[in-house]
Amino acid sequence: MIESPLLERAEGYIGGQWVGKGSGGTLSVTNPATGETLAEVPALGAAETEEAIAAASRALNLQEPASLDERRRWLEGVRDALKEEREEIGRILCLEHGKPLKEAVGEVDYAAGFFNYCANYIDQLAPHTIPETPKDCTWTVHYRPIGVAGLITPWNFPIGMIAKKLSAALAGGAPSVIKPAEDTPLTMIAAFRAIHDRDVLPRGMMNLVMGPPKPIGDTLCQNPDVTMISFTGSTGVGQYLMRECAGRVKKLALELGGNAPFIIFDDADIDDAITQLIGNKFRGGGQTCVCANRIFVQSGIAETFAERLAEKVEALKVGDGMQEGTDIGPLINQTGFDKVRRHVKDALDKGGTLKAGPHPDSLPESGSLFYPPTLVTGVTPDMQCCDEETFGPFVPMATFETEEEVLAAANDTDYGLASYLFTRDEARAQRMIPAMRFGHVGWNTGTGPTPEAPFGGMKLSGIGREGGLEGLFEFVEPQTVPRSY
Ligand code: ADP
Repeated sequence: MIESPLLERAEGYIGGQWVGKGSGGTLSVTNPATGETLAEVPALGAAETEEAIAAASRALNLQEPASLDERRRWLEGVRDALKEEREEIGRILCLEHGKPLKEAVGEVDYAAGFFNYCANYIDQLAPHTIPETPKDCTWTVHYRPIGVAGLITPWNFPIGMIAKKLSAALAGGAPSVIKPAEDTPLTMIAAFRAIHDRDVLPRGMMNLVMGPPKPIGDTLCQNPDVTMISFTGSTGVGQYLMRECAGRVKKLALELGGNAPFIIFDDADIDDAITQLIGNKFRGGGQTCVCANRIFVQSGIAETFAERLAEKVEALKVGDGMQEGTDIGPLINQTGFDKVRRHVKDALDKGGTLKAGPHPDSLPESGSLFYPPTLVTGVTPDMQCCDEETFGPFVPMATFETEEEVLAAANDTDYGLASYLFTRDEARAQRMIPAMRFGHVGWNTGTGPTPEAPFGGMKLSGIGREGGLEGLFEFVEPQTVPRSY
């Protein structure tokens, strides 16, 4: 079991109170590196979600909403709480998710960055009067809190994903009911504890209900007091939430799956592209929606690229995230492990060549969630890994000849989240980038999102943006007041 001053009460949180008993029984949280049970937390259900919505509704004061200055202080308070507890929250994150400790602490810093950004830019939400006076009126635009927001997040960034949503919700003055993923609720409980202890938010502004997804999700969709759902996770669940919210036309912000292409042209700096690919592909053990999923290398450099990449892939150290020097932790659960194995096996069965990593048949059926990083070349579009997100440490590499061919191949997916393009040819990049149907195009970089810039997907990858000014405006309703004198 995990010992931490931030988890003395590993419980839900409603209206500023800890909730130790849930109608859904209990939820067991395990360490994916060791299989050890870290904690048993109460599983909250529909009844507690209703209570949380009621608490959030009481915190919503539409007539006299908190001023922007007040909200700035909330945001700074949350940022500081996370910064002060970064090591301990990072340790808990590492234990329940499995990612290396350094990466886990880095995620807490990343989360704090969203609160910091919203605090710095909150004045953008001040009302403004437009310069024209159509219809003999002065026209003022106000940004009103959207109402109570439901925030539903996945396990791959146990605090990062919530921070993106919660920071913008607080900036907009919108109270929230947060449902973290079943695999990783402890990080958020710890963060809530840090925020609660510093008394930086009014009661009911943030509520935490962890438990079985359907009763919580359905309650958030059906209760009319919830006016917005912000969700990060799989496209299937996103579509389900859209259908459930249709009846009340609730606002949705959806950050869904990706199928990121990573394109390297002959003229790219090969070593830099490899370094960027390794950093991008293996972050979180390959379990992020911005991880490269399809690697396209131009034929002139393909052989050299594959050789150098194979060396780097073989050198990565897989192990317990708490151990110094670990590059890649375990996969989150057996389902995740089985998917990677299935993709590698399918690629090999369909003619791919194993360049690094073991043959999947040599891996034990169960008992360990550590998947050795694997590189397969000769990848073709009929392979499962080209169609589905692998979400694991598997690099499938294909080759291409022309710009037209690779552009068509990159866009040949229903998803449109992240993509990456490595070329030193300015004109080529300027031609390709506008035609790439992805919300994020890294040009000579494998970097993912940052608090200062908008991030989100096209096509089945979602609706809306998080981060940047676009993200800051997600949790407000513009209200236009033409006034006649
Ligand atoms: P992943 O495959 O990354 O776990 P999911 O979409 O299944 O993606 O999960 C993302 C989040 O959505 C998790 O918090 C999960 O509990 C939640 N979730 C899953 N099903 C539902 C549902 N029917 N309603 C609301 N939330 C759900």
